[in-house]
Amino acid sequence: MRILIVGGGTAGTIVANNLARRLGAETRAGKVRITLLSASDRHMYQPGLLYVAFGHMTPDQLYRDQASLLEPNIDFHVDPVTKFNLDKNQVLTAGGKTHDYDILVIATGSRMVPEETPGLTEGAEFFYTEASAVKMFKRLREFQGGKVVVAVGVPHKCPIAPVEVMFMLHDYFKARGIRDKVQLKYHYPIGRIHTIENVAIWAKPEFERIGVETETLFNIKEVDVKNNLLKSEEDTEVAYDLLIVIPQHRGMEVLETDNLGEGGWIPTDRFSLAMKGRDNVYVVGDTTNLPVSKTGSAAHFQAETLAENIASIVKIGAPVRDYDGKVYCFIEAGHDRATYAMFNYQNPPDLKPPSKPMHWFKLSYNQMYWTSVRGLL
Ligand SMILES: Cc1cc2nc3c(=O)[nH]c(=O)nc-3n(C[C@H](O)[C@H](O)[C@H](O)COP(=O)(O)OP(=O)(O)OC[C@H]3O[C@@H](n4cnc5c(N)ncnc54)[C@H](O)[C@@H]3O)c2cc1C
Repeated sequence: MRILIVGGGTAGTIVANNLARRLGAETRAGKVRITLLSASDRHMYQPGLLYVAFGHMTPDQLYRDQASLLEPNIDFHVDPVTKFNLDKNQVLTAGGKTHDYDILVIATGSRMVPEETPGLTEGAEFFYTEASAVKMFKRLREFQGGKVVVAVGVPHKCPIAPVEVMFMLHDYFKARGIRDKVQLKYHYPIGRIHTIENVAIWAKPEFERIGVETETLFNIKEVDVKNNLLKSEEDTEVAYDLLIVIPQHRGMEVLETDNLGEGGWIPTDRFSLAMKGRDNVYVVGDTTNLPVSKTGSAAHFQAETLAENIASIVKIGAPVRDYDGKVYCFIEAGHDRATYAMFNYQNPPDLKPPSKPMHWFKLSYNQMYWTSVRGLL
């Protein structure tokens, strides 16, 4: 049995390690082969980018060598897939190799696409890549006061990040002693301030407490860089001195080119995580089209479910459980406090008042992540 995993981020790494341990005897006996293909020899802890943007972490602290995170019975190659030939149970790679599989797991994540919005790349700061987070930090350091506008494109990974960034901006300018010279304004595309209703209900009074102005039904259309204006699809506009945007995301380009899913989002069965219409192809993490947040935690829970199911397909010929839509998001709430949102397909989150222990738990998790992707937590 040849199991091929494409993508060595949160989801792909957990699937590979979890399978490698569950199928140790089978791999030693040569009955199962687990191959992982990725686009990078390094693994980034992406939530750390938010801390980089505020000078709390440096980029080198976010990386580990991908090979060092993997069980020895995983055949790992840095060789990105350039073609998915699902009818032939094959993928082709940039290095010119062909990999045949019996079971394929696609875990290629997502990427921001600011270049699709006129003026956004030139006019706005971001924190969703290493280079942009470092640039945003330098820009924040130079900022002496004025109007900071934050706006959000959809879909995007980490739905909590727009909320967290407001608390972090408030704390950052307060620490520099210039909070009274800074106006903070938050824009969100739907009719409330967060897509998850209970997060919106919780965040509204918290924003009011720290003096964040809000505007809803604001979908980013373009940036007039010359006049420092952000314009919306709803024909409104806002002037800014500093613009921070969480841009719209897509899945990886190769998925669109090979017609695996519009926007690079692959149609996925919400319980089995099988690609719709394909029995031997599974999808985990950001690149699914599931109605759950694109987060590392969803990727983690999906990966655990899928690895258990693939191992049981190998051992007894059938999967043993369903993914229930579980997501767990920490929410940094400023002033060294945090809360969390835990939910699934059936149950909405029930947010608790922020506390300092939850903030310290989130900071500890920044380190525990490496244990988690090894499949040990
Ligand atoms: C600023 C920021 C803050 C965040 N905060 C949080 C948070 O607090 N909590 C949380 O749960 N989540 C958070 N996230 C989201 C989380 O990081 C992602 O949802 C998670 O990494 C998704 O896992 P994934 O495996 O689907 O994709 P990724 O982890 O992005 O991995 C994708 C992998 O696929 C590989 N790849 C891409 N193309 C190819 C190809 N053609 N062939 C082979 N390999 C390929 C890449 O190299 C990469 O290794 C945050 C993200 C950002 C950017």
